[in-house]
Amino acid sequence: MIPVGGTGNLGETLYRYLAELCEGIESTTKRLVIVDLVAQFLKKLSIEEVAPSIRMIVGEAFPEWSGQTLDVSWRTIQKVIRSITKASDEEMLSAFSEKGDLGDMAKILMLRKDVSKQATLLPKPLTILEVYRSFQSISEAKGSGSKKKKENLVLSLLSRSEPLEAKYIVKNLIGEMRHGASSGLMEEAVAKASGAPLEMIKRAYMLMGDLGEVAEKAMRGGPQALDDVKPTPFHPIKPMLAQAVESVAEALREHGGITSLEYKLDGARLQIHIRGGEVKIFSRRLTEVTTSLPDVVEQVRNNIQPGEAIIEGEAVAVGKDARPLTFQNLMKRFRRVKGIEEMVREIPVKLYLFDIIYLDGKLLIDLPYSERRKALSQVAGEIELVPQLITCDVDKAQEFFEEAKNKGHEGLMAKKIESTYTPGRRGKKWLKIKETEALDLVIVGADWGYGRRVNWLSDYYLAARNEETGELQIIGKTFKGLTDEEFEEITEKLLKLKTIEYGRTVRVKPEIVVETIFEEIQKSPKYESGYALRFARIKRIREDKNVEDIDTMEKVKRLYENQFKAKSKTL
Ligand code: AMP
Repeated sequence: MIPVGGTGNLGETLYRYLAELCEGIESTTKRLVIVDLVAQFLKKLSIEEVAPSIRMIVGEAFPEWSGQTLDVSWRTIQKVIRSITKASDEEMLSAFSEKGDLGDMAKILMLRKDVSKQATLLPKPLTILEVYRSFQSISEAKGSGSKKKKENLVLSLLSRSEPLEAKYIVKNLIGEMRHGASSGLMEEAVAKASGAPLEMIKRAYMLMGDLGEVAEKAMRGGPQALDDVKPTPFHPIKPMLAQAVESVAEALREHGGITSLEYKLDGARLQIHIRGGEVKIFSRRLTEVTTSLPDVVEQVRNNIQPGEAIIEGEAVAVGKDARPLTFQNLMKRFRRVKGIEEMVREIPVKLYLFDIIYLDGKLLIDLPYSERRKALSQVAGEIELVPQLITCDVDKAQEFFEEAKNKGHEGLMAKKIESTYTPGRRGKKWLKIKETEALDLVIVGADWGYGRRVNWLSDYYLAARNEETGELQIIGKTFKGLTDEEFEEITEKLLKLKTIEYGRTVRVKPEIVVETIFEEIQKSPKYESGYALRFARIKRIREDKNVEDIDTMEKVKRLYENQFKAKSKTL
């Protein structure tokens, strides 16, 4: 059982209990146990510890829209761990490969070196609020010298940590909590701890976009405190997201034979908040971008009359012939390399609207898409709505897809006609259709599955070859795309190829090649390769290929860059 509630010098709860809670969560797959552990834990905290604890347990130290990020690189963390533990390169590598996780590496090395006992001064135990305050200072370190500042802050935090605490601090710093506390489970735990109905917690979370704040409100004031949670202009809401499908036919099938197709524009998503004459614009990550878009603000002011509204659209950079320019061009607007007047002249943007969330005191998210679109057209004035085609005909849908691409757009979105707006969720009500590239990658490791998949190695580490060094470098992980038979077959094969097993992870000889599709390649500190596949999915097992045939990091880099170039070719 996890002890909870002990206090540090300042009467604050010790961070150690939070780390032990996370370890408890990691060690079980039982939903009810996790919910119960977290709920018990929350109940013992003081009110001001609730929000920071929730955020640190889910591994999102700050809500996305707050604009605060920790932004600490792998390299910095490795450097700090090395300086604390005096571990050699080899020791670091072997500790890392035990679990393939930087947090575990920190714990293993600190345990091995027994650093806590080496400390000459009696270290004061860390409290939850101290760790959170350090995270805040790390996020505030900006500008020149910020790297060093961050490094020093991480150093002072980790030198006061016990091995288990270090594990979870590191996991928070790199934003990778791999334990099973999904936000769904955390919502349940908050409901249980506060006595507020789960539906109320979910809705408040949807509208406030920060479970920590919701929990604090509910624990302080009970369910009544959540009654009045409504979107407020100028407080951004998590945007609804889309799942990827491979074809218009699949989208039509998913939506029951009829769907509303819209161009998928490749620009920046904007959430536009209007109150009286004032306009504020938020990005997809919910940071405010109003000052980069004075032309959009003016257009909105000139066209949209209502007292209060929250509407959504996409801003696309356009060339002289009004065709869309690449996303990178648009980004210059936000990076503000020059004065804003010059940027407005150099990179004109066009705004297309596609949704409305709130209008004059009324929340519209529970209305069907078709009615929201109607309401939007009534308030949009002369601002264009994104082109739309409602159809049940695959050929017409395909034509519309070609048309969108010919005009330089990314593809299509398919929106289920009667669907409500679900903030922050990536569901099937919205589907995106774009062309996908595939990579042939080799499986170098796998994690044992959860639940139904518990007897299978079902989550695969996928690697490409670095041609310069010959190394296989991990660029992604996925459990998607295989049938039950394939899982079974692959598990059997992988166990024969096993080299070493730690916790839930098995390392294997690289032999099984899989054709992998994905939505996007990102630069990411998550893997040493520096790249990560977003939404990877195994398309098929390539029995016909072996490890010599896999794709190279060169190709990965090229595809990464082409993502930006692809659209300019069509101009
Ligand atoms: P993705 O970023 O690939 O998950 O695709 C979702 C994004 O597509 C949204 O966040 C919007 O920025 C963008 N988008 C482009 N066109 C549309 C559209 N017609 N409706 C909704 N989102 C769109």
